[in-house]
Amino acid sequence: MTKCNICGNKLQELFLEKLKGTVVKKEGSSKKYHVCFECQKKFKNKDEWFAKIK
Ligand SMILES: [Zn+2]
Repeated sequence: MTKCNICGNKLQELFLEKLKGTVVKKEGSSKKYHVCFECQKKFKNKDEWFAKIK
């Protein structure tokens, strides 16, 4: 199951491939990270997300 890379909560799958969250990529990297809606609300920009992602 997919987890949020910031808070570690599981992302619930809504429909077939739609996840409750978003996928971001670091620049210059092909690695993908998942961010749930709650963390998107908590941290307004991607720089903050990447600072929190482990
Ligand atoms: Zn989260």
